[in-house]
Amino acid sequence: MSVKDGVCEFCGQVVLDGKACSCYEATKERKIKDKIIEANNSVDELFRACEPGEYEIPIQIIDLLKKANELVANELIKSIKLNINGLLSTSIATDTKGAIKVNRKKVYSDTIQVDER
Ligand SMILES: [Zn+2]
Repeated sequence: MSVKDGVCEFCGQVVLDGKACSCYEATKERKIKDKIIEANNSVDELFRACEPGEYEIPIQIIDLLKKANELVANELIKSIKLNINGLLSTSIATDTKGAIKVNRKKVYSDTIQVDER
């Protein structure tokens, strides 16, 4: 956390009773952490909601997406797109308000062939 032993690691101000410091850097860091938590919840929600028999997302991919959330929240990358297995893809990006948007996209491909008689 940004407050260690009652002292803010950013501004050095003494903060009592485990309270959070209100300086610019500490506030900014808390916002980034909140963004990551929210985006990680989105990842869990989107990829846990699998119906039985549906492709199960390997945990390594979930971990990768959560790592991407961290990078996006810290503004190290703007967006990331991932093609999971050709049928499922996902993108993580910051919207104009600075919130992280996690998108899951399923690609369906149906072909019906009608033979001539
Ligand atoms: Zn501070």
